[in-house]
Amino acid sequence: MHPEPRFGFLIDMDGVLYRGTELIPGAERFVRELRDRDIPFRFLTNNSQRTRRDVVARLARMGIEVEDEHVYTCAMATARFLASQKPNGTAFVIGEGGLLNALHQSGYAVVDHDPDYVVVGEGRTFNLELVEAAVRMILKGAKLIATNLDPNCPTQNGLRPGCGALVALLETATGVRAFSVGKPSPVMMRAARKELGLTTDETTMIGDTMETDILGGAQLGFHTVLVLSGGTRPDDLPRYAYRPEVVVPSLAEFADLMDRHGWRPPWRAGANGKPARGREAVGV
Ligand SMILES: [Mg+2]
Repeated sequence: MHPEPRFGFLIDMDGVLYRGTELIPGAERFVRELRDRDIPFRFLTNNSQRTRRDVVARLARMGIEVEDEHVYTCAMATARFLASQKPNGTAFVIGEGGLLNALHQSGYAVVDHDPDYVVVGEGRTFNLELVEAAVRMILKGAKLIATNLDPNCPTQNGLRPGCGALVALLETATGVRAFSVGKPSPVMMRAARKELGLTTDETTMIGDTMETDILGGAQLGFHTVLVLSGGTRPDDLPRYAYRPEVVVPSLAEFADLMDRHGWRPPWRAGANGKPARGREAVGV
């Protein structure tokens, strides 16, 4: 008996699994099929606000059952990166539970004076006092770390400013450029791939955002699938110098595509099918 070909998925959440509190059709089925078939996957999010446990509870309320180990946040990627750069360091944090928790778990102390790093994530408790404190620490030599550079995030009530907007404020005030760890940074993309235990060519990134999910996947040499259930429209695609390998309206159609290929990715199709690539794969 030959072992099954190895492959797995890194799956963005917002705009792929759900929008706001609303589940996107096909998401529950796709994840259930991956679990039933022992196909490895991780959810990859640039939202640093929640812990992986918070994410699992939120998904469970929407009907998607996964374990903590299936969630990989930019807060975790940031904390692990810092621990590898400077073990047991200190951080001044503009952010919330997910980021604080990840830093603590990686052996970091969260401090108000003379930190090694100023670390910025998203949150709703942002104020100018924090910004002033952070600016002074950076000018005294603390390194500026961004969990991600997303300029904004969709909510039910419209866009809210993202972590990248807060980071731009600190960069402008200090003249110091931040180092960002979240998607599309290779730091997070590669760490997530290693979590899957797969090689580059065995890894597929599924996401709704060209600037993070698809760019990151393209840079790392992963296979890429763009879903149009989030922020990207087909008309947007010609603007980019890189392109996703497959474009589908949502995870529902990608699940159908996997069905047609015996639950292998289309580019691994066997004798029955030519590898399906790009738009012709789904008739978009
Ligand atoms: Mg998204």
